[in-house]
Amino acid sequence: MTPRIAVVGGGMAAARFAERYGALGGPGEVTVYGAEPRAPYNRVLLTEVLTGRHDPESIALPLGGAGLRPGCEVLAIDLGGRTVKLADGSAEPWDELVLATGADPVLPPVRGLRRPDGHGLAEGVHTLRTLEDCVRLAEEAVEAERAVVIGGGVLGVSTARALAGIGVHTEIVQRGPYLIDRQLDAGAAAVLLGKLRALGVACHLGTRPVALHTGAGGRGRVRSVEPADGGRLDCDLVVLACGTRPSTALAEAAGLPVATGVLVDDDLAAAPHVHAIGDCAEHRGTVYGLAGPAWEQADVLARRLSGAEPDARYPGSARRARLSAGGLDYVAFGAVDEGDGQGLDVLRLTDATRGSYKKLVLRGDRLVGAILLGDLATVDELAGAFADGGVPAGDPLHLLTRGTVMTGEA
Ligand SMILES: Cc1cc2nc3c(=O)[nH]c(=O)nc-3n(C[C@H](O)[C@H](O)[C@H](O)COP(=O)(O)OP(=O)(O)OC[C@H]3O[C@@H](n4cnc5c(N)ncnc54)[C@H](O)[C@@H]3O)c2cc1C
Repeated sequence: MTPRIAVVGGGMAAARFAERYGALGGPGEVTVYGAEPRAPYNRVLLTEVLTGRHDPESIALPLGGAGLRPGCEVLAIDLGGRTVKLADGSAEPWDELVLATGADPVLPPVRGLRRPDGHGLAEGVHTLRTLEDCVRLAEEAVEAERAVVIGGGVLGVSTARALAGIGVHTEIVQRGPYLIDRQLDAGAAAVLLGKLRALGVACHLGTRPVALHTGAGGRGRVRSVEPADGGRLDCDLVVLACGTRPSTALAEAAGLPVATGVLVDDDLAAAPHVHAIGDCAEHRGTVYGLAGPAWEQADVLARRLSGAEPDARYPGSARRARLSAGGLDYVAFGAVDEGDGQGLDVLRLTDATRGSYKKLVLRGDRLVGAILLGDLATVDELAGAFADGGVPAGDPLHLLTRGTVMTGEA
């Protein structure tokens, strides 16, 4: 009998799994149940949709030969009976279940964030996770003059860059001491800050918002953000970019193991015949929340379930982050912040004039971390060195620059 594979969540991991499963000649019938009313798309490019550089159709992702049920939220999983329950009351059978439910935006504890009746966010306040969010934000941005982005991580920075690019005066409020503090070090973030300033984006670091102020006694549109260190940031648009939380309610209700995410082993299994991949999954204590690991997990699971490589294992993903956002490009590998004072060697090149920052962190001859910001000319060589276990071919200086004299520090 043809195995039935139900994939819950029509996002990036789901699409990748379905496409790879088909490409590998998997014998099963794959059905993707997606809550969003459309085919899967490349979520990473949403800020480019905001700037108008991509239109929504151009970011669609292929699904191979899988069947798609868009606008079809799975409400419950019956593990014993091996069915998923849909919003229309029907129950669909499966032999293998793949959870790829992604993550939801975290809402910060800020006064005035919600409408007075508690239903929804105050007028003018947005999250950015789906294409629908993006379209709503783009519509309001046309009329907006001033925006505040709450959160200075990768989503906050790329959203601020996009809003500034379409003519909205934008400020970032970042609780951490510097921007993108989970991926960059202080030096790289300082160069990034300069680049954002050049785009007209102001950044308020080391503070958090305590209140949003709206018109009409709390019922009107947002007017300002009040940071903890005082003052008011006037705005008519607020974007929340405070991180995400794995979407695990469905798995938890079904009795699957959940910590921060749905717990999976190296087989990407949460229970017999039940798997989890992408932002909803937690593997060896890590929830990645990034597209690269989501795709690597989808690839391994497709190899396993298609029969192409039934024993394929997922060992975890290397720490690698990349942002491609017009002029703010960077790539960060491994442990970028452990270079100082811990017996490691650091090679660093900062070029404030050209807005570039490059750093290698080495333990002996082995690379343990690296950042390229603003000039990614050597990214392929660097990726190759990390793929080879962190052992550079030849002088590591060539991983930073082509032909320029370097200085090192220990
Ligand atoms: C604006 C933006 C920019 C980003 N930029 C980067 C970047 O530069 N680099 C990077 O690595 N990552 C980036 N990310 C993160 C990246 O998009 C995610 O890591 C990736 O989408 C994870 O894929 P996923 O399939 O696990 O989750 P998602 O793509 O979020 O897909 C999950 C899907 O499941 C659906 N779903 C949830 N519950 C149910 C249910 N019960 N029934 C049916 N469907 C359900 C959801 O509606 C959603 O469509 C960005 C994210 C955003 C929002």
